[in-house]
Amino acid sequence: MVNTTIKTTKSQEVFAAAQNLMPGGVSSPVRAFKSVGGQPIVFDRVKGAYIWDVDGNQYIDYVGTWGPAICGHAHPEVIAALHEALEKGTSFGAPSVLENVLAEMVIDAVPSIEMVRFVNSGTEACIGVLRLMRAFTNRDKIIKFEGCYHGHADAFLVKAGSGVATLGLPDSPGVPKSATSTTLTAPFNDLEAVKALFEENRDEIAGVILEPVVGNAGFIAPDAGFLEGLRELTHEHGALLVFDEVMTGFRIAYGGAQEKFGLTPDLTTLGKVIGGGLPVGAYGGRRDIMSMVAPAGPVYQAGTLSGNPLAMTAGIKTLELLQKPGTYEYLDRITKKLADGLLQIAKENGHAICGGQISAMFGLFYTSGPVHNYEDAKKSDTAKFGRFHRGMLEHGVYLAPSQFEAGFTSFAHTEEDIDQTLAVARDVISSL
Ligand SMILES: *Cc1c(COP(=O)(O)O)cnc(C)c1O
Repeated sequence: MVNTTIKTTKSQEVFAAAQNLMPGGVSSPVRAFKSVGGQPIVFDRVKGAYIWDVDGNQYIDYVGTWGPAICGHAHPEVIAALHEALEKGTSFGAPSVLENVLAEMVIDAVPSIEMVRFVNSGTEACIGVLRLMRAFTNRDKIIKFEGCYHGHADAFLVKAGSGVATLGLPDSPGVPKSATSTTLTAPFNDLEAVKALFEENRDEIAGVILEPVVGNAGFIAPDAGFLEGLRELTHEHGALLVFDEVMTGFRIAYGGAQEKFGLTPDLTTLGKVIGGGLPVGAYGGRRDIMSMVAPAGPVYQAGTLSGNPLAMTAGIKTLELLQKPGTYEYLDRITKKLADGLLQIAKENGHAICGGQISAMFGLFYTSGPVHNYEDAKKSDTAKFGRFHRGMLEHGVYLAPSQFEAGFTSFAHTEEDIDQTLAVARDVISSL
């Protein structure tokens, strides 16, 4: 292998200091590299498909700030729009035209959304949707799937995928039993299990929430018929179907998984891409359900910075950029080339491997597979993934520092970036 040691002295210094200042030295757990070993690199700046760390090393980035950077980091048009918006103030705490603009774009794009409420994160969106599901149905229980992540609200911290899985915590201390006693779980892609839960809890289940394509247990696609089956079961039992599209929204298609698979849930949560790199989340859906949200209705939910003009501006510009013809075809093409290439290289080197991609979202597991759910995903050789991750990093490719996270591309990634990534992978994988 060429050049296996990059200089990361400054990263190490900054991270050592951070560990005295913030728990684990980070503002969000998976960033600490606990599951892949070694030290995280400390970022200095990001642009397009690239990251530069504080030691001046450059990397091709496949994390994209965990999903938002689908246009590439710091896209010049997003930055220019932000500069302009900045001059008019950073927060209004009052209605603005920008909210109408983004709301209209979201409603036009996402089949299930007739009305939308903006919040500040995906976590907040999922908290809001949970309260609304329960209020609308007058039922308390929900079904979620093992390995799916819906933010860090108490009720969702049950078999919650990546961050929790990465740290090996089945549940979090501090979450009272009462907060999760109404959260029922089933394996992803297992319709029979969901059917059984509905039978055992007749007229008690408010709804089913899921990542329609899982990204928080690694990349797991829905089996044919799974989403349709959930749609039928929820209808049959008077329950709501909620797609958590915080990750998949505007990523696997402009209209998200519901456009991609031609299936309309009752409610949808969004985040990541719609904030264009600023803190935004949203939930929306059927007008009769959304009309229950305060102040139109009695279901309370609020936010000081919600709908703030900078976040709205970044979201609007990002969605405008995504509307350009050919965007998703390009994203699909380069991401397929990357995922297929990585699979092939691993196979040529005799590794058990499986994985796939949909549009600009991909993932690999170091197991022969197939992976239909979180139990299957856990069969992956995480120690091998850790060595793969470290090798790629040392050769200038930044992958999500966990086996249980999907990877992301952007339209700033060029064919050459993919070629270079595959060349690096050939070196790294041959010496795993
Ligand atoms: C990232 C994510 C969340 C949480 O969003 P935050 O903005 O990190 O709070 C919720 N659901 C899914 C599917 C996600 O990928």
